[in-house]
Amino acid sequence: MGYKYVFGPVMSGRLGLSLGLDLLGGRICSMDCVYCEVGKTSVLTSERKPYVSAHEVLGELERWKAENHEMPDVVTLGGLGEPTLNSEMPEIIRGVKKLFPSMPVAVLTNATPMTDPGVRRELMEADMVLPSLDSLVPLEFRAINRPCKGTNPAGVAEALIEFRKEFKGKIFLEVLLAEGYNDSQENLSLMSDFCKRLRPDRIDVVTLTRPGTLEGARAVKNETLDLWKKELDAAPCKERECGSGEKAEKRSGPESVCKRQDDDAGAYDRIQASLARRPQTAAQLEQALGISHDEVQSVLEELKRGERLIVRPGNGEIYYSMKP
Ligand code: SF4
Repeated sequence: MGYKYVFGPVMSGRLGLSLGLDLLGGRICSMDCVYCEVGKTSVLTSERKPYVSAHEVLGELERWKAENHEMPDVVTLGGLGEPTLNSEMPEIIRGVKKLFPSMPVAVLTNATPMTDPGVRRELMEADMVLPSLDSLVPLEFRAINRPCKGTNPAGVAEALIEFRKEFKGKIFLEVLLAEGYNDSQENLSLMSDFCKRLRPDRIDVVTLTRPGTLEGARAVKNETLDLWKKELDAAPCKERECGSGEKAEKRSGPESVCKRQDDDAGAYDRIQASLARRPQTAAQLEQALGISHDEVQSVLEELKRGERLIVRPGNGEIYYSMKP
């Protein structure tokens, strides 16, 4: 039997081998970013509720554990949107720690729900928090992230600074740049001041590498990326990781290829589940899932024949994703 809420493990440049937990079960987010790899947000909301129950998520995780897979380095809370919107997140963090006592728990977040002190308190139980913040210029923030009404970037930045004061774990901040959206000098200067105040354990400045929700959203030039990395004192890094956890990190060599060969779901189910989370090339599927070139090609052909696949060119490659 396959999994609905447990995915991976996948190799993450920031976290190592990461086993993902989907806390949303759908495209539910407090933002609708123009570059989002998992597609358009279906439910744009800041409402917190048990979108997926802790019982269901932990039940799957317990089954995964019983199947004696290779142990990941970290369990990462994510999903097809904003995981902190799940009001049962604290139970899930505690449940993961009970099942894997020595395993760190990481949470990917767009940080907007962190303006709520209750959410900040809940996140204290995690070991690593990976917030993203793309612009501190209100107009840019609204254009690139298309958040719920009333969200203001200065409020999000202050919430992160408050959180930093008490959080004992690590904070890895990520900034994604899209050409013409948030690569302005004004934003660079505001973000630079903010990073000095926040003092995150790591800063990653990234740009688009795959097609986003909006056709016009483009990667910034290398010179821009280099300038921002230098100004923000960022780590040499790879790609965006956001709610969907599984997205982003490229695997660089055989040592980082997912070893989940003993997954009892077939190649067809695994490829389909993976493409439902984010667009990928055939080569990325091969590496991510450890499935042979021929098998990936044959599943893609089958999905095409069934008219279930979206095929889009981007950055000189062909990306596949599932139709909603
Ligand atoms: S990129 Fe992240 S924050 Fe933005 S819409 Fe997608 S899941 Fe939500």
